[in-house]
Amino acid sequence: MRGIGLYVHVPFCAARCPYCDFATAPAATALRTRYLDALAAEARREGNALGRPRARTLYVGGGTPSLLEPDEVGVLAAALGAAFDLRPREATLEANPATLDAARLDAWRAAGVTRISLGAQSLDQRGLAALGRTHQVSDVAPAVAAAHARGLAVGIDLIFGWPGQTAADWAADLDAAVALEPEHLSCYPLELEREREEADANWPGGGWPVVVRWRARAQAAAPQEDAVAAMYETAERVLRRAGFRHYEIANWARPGMRAQHNLGYWRNEEWLGLGAGAHSHLGGARSRNPVSLVEYVRRVEAGEGRTPDPAADEASDTAMLALRTDEGLDLARHAQRFGAGAAGSVRAALASLDGTGLVRLRGDRARLSPRGRLLASEVFLRLLPP
Ligand code: SF4
Repeated sequence: MRGIGLYVHVPFCAARCPYCDFATAPAATALRTRYLDALAAEARREGNALGRPRARTLYVGGGTPSLLEPDEVGVLAAALGAAFDLRPREATLEANPATLDAARLDAWRAAGVTRISLGAQSLDQRGLAALGRTHQVSDVAPAVAAAHARGLAVGIDLIFGWPGQTAADWAADLDAAVALEPEHLSCYPLELEREREEADANWPGGGWPVVVRWRARAQAAAPQEDAVAAMYETAERVLRRAGFRHYEIANWARPGMRAQHNLGYWRNEEWLGLGAGAHSHLGGARSRNPVSLVEYVRRVEAGEGRTPDPAADEASDTAMLALRTDEGLDLARHAQRFGAGAAGSVRAALASLDGTGLVRLRGDRARLSPRGRLLASEVFLRLLPP
C-alpha cells in the first residue's frame, strides 16, 4: 500500500449551528469518554487490518476537535501513532476560533499538527449571528496569530450568501480574511436545501423542527441565486488579486499551500475515516460509519466494521472529483484506470455539454470553465452512472 489519507472525526461542538449537517454531538455528552475510547479501538483494529500503513496526510475534523482537552489530544495522538506509520506530510486540525487557547494549540502542535483549518465563517458580527455561530469576530485574528506564531499554516473557512448579506458585506468579509494573511481560504455558499435528519440524533432536545424553522426563515432572507453567483465571482476576483490560486471549486491557496489531504479526496486516492459518520475509500470500495454516536460506539465495542456503500461508482466518482480541481480530468489516464468504455462515457457526457461553455476539453484534458465552476452540479449530473 502506497499510504493512505487518515481522517479522524471528533464530533463534539459547543452548540449546534442550524445550517450544519455534519455528524456532531454536544461537547458535554455522557458518551465523550466512550467515544474517544472507541476511536482509539477503531484505529487499532484498522491499523492492524491494513498492516500499520503509512498515513501520508492526517486530517482531524468534526465537529470541533479543537475543543478537546490537552490530555485527550495526547491520548488520541498516542493511539494513532501506535496504529499507523504516522509521518504525514501535512496534518490538519479543524478549529473553532473561540477554542484555540495556548494550551490546546501547544498540545496539537506536539501531536504533529502542521495546519489549522479555522471555521471563521464570517468576519462580520451580523454574519455570525445570522449563521447561529457562537464565536465572536474578535476571536478570529488572535487565533490566526497564535497559530502563525507556532509556525502553523492557517486556512480560513468562509460562508457566503447568509441571510441579509449584501455584495458589499461579502467583499468586506473577503478583504478582512485576506488581511489576516492566511495561507489558504475556503469559500462555501450557504446550503439550505440539504436535509439530514440523522445528524440530529446526537442532540437530545435540540430537535429537528428547530432547524427546519431556522432554515425556513433563513431561506426567506437569503440573497437570491444570481446575487450568490455574483458573490462567487467576487471571491474569484478578490482572491486572485491577493495572490491566491483558485485550485478547487471552493478552495484557494497561496503557492505551495494546497490542502494535500483534500487533494487526496479529489484525486480519489485511498483514505480511511475513523469516527462517527466518517467515510472510507480503500481498495476501490467505499464504506462509512454510522452518524449516531450511540450506534458508532456500539459497533466498535462489538467489533463490527463499517457499512459498505454499494451505490458508489468508482469511475464516475473519479471523473466528478477530478473536474472539481484545476488539474481537471485526464481522459487517457481515466481510460487506463477504468477502461476505454468508462472514458468513452465521460467523453460522451462532456460532448453533450458542447455549446454551454461549462467545460473546456483540450486533447485528453477536461477542465471546468469559470462558469462551469459556478454551475458544476449541471456538469456532474451528466456524469452520474445510468
Ligand atoms: S458548523 Fe461546525 S461548529 Fe457548528 S455544529 Fe457544525 S461542526 Fe459544529
